[in-house]
Amino acid sequence: MHELSVCDAIVGTTLKRAEGRRVTQVTVQIGHLRQVVPDALQFGWEVLTDSTDLKGCELLIEQVPAVVRCQGCGTETTLDMPILMCGACESFDVTLLSGEEFLIVSMDVTGE
Ligand SMILES: [Zn+2]
Repeated sequence: MHELSVCDAIVGTTLKRAEGRRVTQVTVQIGHLRQVVPDALQFGWEVLTDSTDLKGCELLIEQVPAVVRCQGCGTETTLDMPILMCGACESFDVTLLSGEEFLIVSMDVTGE
């Protein structure tokens, strides 16, 4: 499952940054083009953290829409499908503005 490997990466990075401190909440930004199903990510998170220091830690998922700007007509299009195309003139000459994010944007750490 794709989401499990994504989760695995989040768990690994979080544990490393936590340096032994207790983490209560992790917020991630996932771009639309990553094709991640939030429910599956949430489930994977629970499974993977269960046997670690992150057990009980909450995962907040912020989804970032995929947006492109057309080089031809300048229109910005929010993509429903993972096809990089201008919604106005159907040109493929577009620049990706967002949608490929996969970031841990914040971590809540308790204690010292
Ligand atoms: Zn266009």
